[in-house]
Amino acid sequence: MKSLSSINLSQDFSGLGGICRAIRTFVYCPPSRANPSPISLTHSSLRVSRCSTSLLSVTMEEAKKQALDAEKAALLVKELRKSFNSGRTKSYEWRAAQLQSISKMIDERAKDIIQALQLDLSKPELEAFVSEISMTKSSCQKALKDLKHWMAPEKVKTPITTYPSSAEIVSEPFGVVLIISTWNYPFLLSLDPVIGAIAAGNAIVLKPSEIAPATSSLLARLLGEYVDGSTIRVVEGAVPETSALLDQKWDKIFYTGSTRVGYIVMAAAAKHLTPIVLELGGKCPAIVDSNIDLEVAARRMIAGKWVCNNGQACIAIDYIVTTKSFAPKLVDALRLALEEFFGKNPLESQDMSRIVNLYHFRRLAKLLDEDGTSDKIVLGGQRDENNLRMAPTILLDVPEDSTIMQEEIFGPLLPILTVDDIQDSFHMINSKPKPLAAYIFSNDDGLQKQFVQNISAGGMLINDTVLHLTIPTLPFGGVGESGMGAYHGKFSFDAFSHKKGVLYRGFKGDTAARYPPYTPEKQRLMKALIRGDIIGIILALLGWSKE
Ligand code: NAD
Repeated sequence: MKSLSSINLSQDFSGLGGICRAIRTFVYCPPSRANPSPISLTHSSLRVSRCSTSLLSVTMEEAKKQALDAEKAALLVKELRKSFNSGRTKSYEWRAAQLQSISKMIDERAKDIIQALQLDLSKPELEAFVSEISMTKSSCQKALKDLKHWMAPEKVKTPITTYPSSAEIVSEPFGVVLIISTWNYPFLLSLDPVIGAIAAGNAIVLKPSEIAPATSSLLARLLGEYVDGSTIRVVEGAVPETSALLDQKWDKIFYTGSTRVGYIVMAAAAKHLTPIVLELGGKCPAIVDSNIDLEVAARRMIAGKWVCNNGQACIAIDYIVTTKSFAPKLVDALRLALEEFFGKNPLESQDMSRIVNLYHFRRLAKLLDEDGTSDKIVLGGQRDENNLRMAPTILLDVPEDSTIMQEEIFGPLLPILTVDDIQDSFHMINSKPKPLAAYIFSNDDGLQKQFVQNISAGGMLINDTVLHLTIPTLPFGGVGESGMGAYHGKFSFDAFSHKKGVLYRGFKGDTAARYPPYTPEKQRLMKALIRGDIIGIILALLGWSKE
């Protein structure tokens, strides 16, 4: 078997133009922009692919040879396991140094990050800065600030049955972990779990999404430059590479992406009994009551839909439920605010991301063009396939069995469903799989309370959208089909740590009652101890019975 270093990892894989062209219809770059970067296997010492038109073309055959297969993946894991077993990643110093390097990397390479996000999604600079760069940076800063505290064993109480003793919960790293990321916030959603995994002291393989190739390539290059390559690696690639990685035995897998692939990841993990976190998606509802400040609410709904990557966000509003009588007012308020934000021709707005690729553009167009749906458009509907631009589009009262109401939309289309009574919205939401996020706009405290009590969702936000994701003291994760496990802040550290329970005892206070022969006196004492019955314990010690 070849060793990993003998697979010519010092070679520059940036010339995989063949693969690049082959996936062009899938990973789409508009003609006016630079081509997407190719898929490549990366290594700490390897200068990886760049999004450049001057790349050498290679055949698909060559590309296949260089791609990561199960054999190379196994060697990669073996190398990382060796590094992990050396104990290096467990020290506070190693963890803090990696986090400091990532923080420095973000400061020094912010322009490159913005440029990659522009290439992948035409992400507006402000959105890139706010929701990718600064959020990743603040995760890093939070971890650095709290790391010592997180790492410290947590003292816990012990019962009288083990007296004298003390106990603590020790957080230990799982070992070698795999992080598979997605394309919509390709920088944040790749590095945020990496930050948690570093804080917890693991060795890491990150597999960014091939659907955001410029960011994937940049991450590979930057992490190769800034962090310890013997313990943190990036593997670029698509389904074959991810499958090769999933064939290996990991100590934890953290997956962000669709529910469909979530099933694949969970099945692969089950083969090795590997614990997982699944950060999935779903249809996030927003209930809109009529007693609200509509102007503010409309702005916040837009922020939670189109200002979020043009709806390509896991916690973007997927659909709204409101009353029949209030719906026209809501549509008008959204229309006014949308025009204020994106102008009369939103397809030309530079303040909105484009659709990520042709596959997703056509998927969304198909949702819109379906019989029974296309005639429900009350706002928008314009699109430009050449530039992958799609306008904010509102549909009123699409059938509940339409595809747009059966699948996660993940784009700029927003159906509004109407009910006679706002209370009916609970039933509508509860008849669908549990969402990642659920929103309500209402001034009615009672309705808010009912919403929190009766709707199961990964997270909730009352009278706003999306912001709950920015609160590091709240866990972020799904429930049911929207995922399992959670992260952010300390929850990220916990997601990548095994909580080891440790009980300390000395040699004093060894009670004979624990050991056979089980005389009636011993039984009386043990039963009283287990019940916590102080009088019973005293009586048993004195050799008396309560009876
Ligand atoms: P994607 O296609 O980029 O897939 C995600 C990852 O899975 C990629 O790294 C990809 O290589 C890998 N993958 C794809 N198909 C695979 C297969 N057959 N076998 C093995 N690996 C495979 O992203 P996506 O799935 O289109 O992402 C969109 C979904 O992600 C939406 O449902 C969205 O709601 C969800 N999402 C969730 C969160 C969250 O935090 N919960 C965040 C963002 C997106």
